[in-house]
Amino acid sequence: MDSFLTRWNEVLKDMGNLVTAVSYDLYIETLEPIKVDNNKLVVLASTSTNKKQLLRLHKEKLLSAIKNHFENVEDVIVLEPSEKEAFLEDIKQAEETIETNQMLNEKTILNKKYTFDNFVVGQSNKIVYSAALNVAENPGKNFNPLFIYGGVGLGKTHLLHAIGNYVTKNNKDFKIIYVTCEQFMNDFTKSIREKTTEAFRHKYREVDLLMIDDIQFISNKTGTQEEFFHTFNDLHQFNKQIILASDKHPRNIDALEERLRSRFSGGLIQDIQKPDFETRLAILQKKVEIENYSVESNVLEFLAEKIDTNIRELEGSLNKVVSLSILIGKNKATMFEAEEALKDIAISQAQNLSVDKIMEVVCKYYNVKKADLIGKKKNKEIVDPRQICIYLITELMDIPLMTIGNAFGGRDHTTIMHARDKIAQNIKTNKSLKVNIEDLIAMIKSDI
Ligand code: ADP
Ligand code: MG
Repeated sequence: MDSFLTRWNEVLKDMGNLVTAVSYDLYIETLEPIKVDNNKLVVLASTSTNKKQLLRLHKEKLLSAIKNHFENVEDVIVLEPSEKEAFLEDIKQAEETIETNQMLNEKTILNKKYTFDNFVVGQSNKIVYSAALNVAENPGKNFNPLFIYGGVGLGKTHLLHAIGNYVTKNNKDFKIIYVTCEQFMNDFTKSIREKTTEAFRHKYREVDLLMIDDIQFISNKTGTQEEFFHTFNDLHQFNKQIILASDKHPRNIDALEERLRSRFSGGLIQDIQKPDFETRLAILQKKVEIENYSVESNVLEFLAEKIDTNIRELEGSLNKVVSLSILIGKNKATMFEAEEALKDIAISQAQNLSVDKIMEVVCKYYNVKKADLIGKKKNKEIVDPRQICIYLITELMDIPLMTIGNAFGGRDHTTIMHARDKIAQNIKTNKSLKVNIEDLIAMIKSDI
């Protein structure tokens, strides 16, 4: 699971591609991400002027980059320093109220965006879709537990929320809990620390529908497994519905107690597969419709063709294309933006491409030592290849600037950005540099 900061770094990286270096340095890099609160990402600008400028110039781009990396986040709140204290205090109070409410009446936060209606059904997911719908219509009756498994970004979480939303609508006084395995674990360990295990048990054992997402993380957590075993039995015995989602089949979850494995297998285990082309296209069309995006239809076919790994990435690529078109000032996204957006993804998907490989090729080409390439020397014979190497990595691979900085002896990501932009600029006027870079790219590609 990506941490908050990893995700934020991804946002920074996207913004690096969407705004000028000056804007990036002034308004983006100086932001301090604070937290996600109620589907909103809260960030702190360094000054009140920066806040105003950021909102005026880059709010849309920032929001779309954020949405790409933080699922469930729908808005961004930019604070200026004078607002920080008061805001945090508000959040704290709100959290305390929510916590007590949760203890009292099991309110679950379900994402309203994830419904059966906007889940596109195709060959790859039609059985799991029917199973989920069946369970939503008859909780506790037919498939208990329902265990959904499949790779990342294929719609497991979406289906869990869809079931929750459906059940909430039709059974107003049903008590529902949706938690990730991590939340369940944290809740449990907290209850031990604070000696509130009674309240914990009450909370989890008196629900009509319990959904635990990413249950594979229970692997190795002996205490949590023990507790969950009892929770499970209590609920099951009273025909309360249990739904679990995992990235693996129960038999492939390591260090899982046998008795839990057999409980997990006692209902219906259903997998969710990678979508085929038609489903991918239909998902993109649905998304365009929901978000009211303006995109040429061949763009959707192009994306559906190129991105066949997971649906989150598919949606991400569409967002990227739309952001680019907005940035360029077009009112409809075309193949031009699509190709731009996919440039780096396509090549970096080729296996075996690594920072080391690119460095190796550059060192050979310019006859410099790797130690010098990543070292501190400032003479032109070294600096040029170094900057070219950085440029190539940013062009060919889809990795954060910070990671590249680390590979170059712990340089700051702004240094990396500077090198990249400088070469990108120089290529436009310097023919021989352009030829060299094309040579290098050909060599790198022929090597992988
Ligand atoms: P998982 O939990 O399996 O990693 P998610 O449920 O988070 O995947 O899905 C990733 C993204 O893809 C979400 O935005 C979700 O809405 C979308 N998605 C997945 N499957 C579908 C589908 N069949 N139709 C529409 N959107 C989908
Ligand atoms: Mg998920």
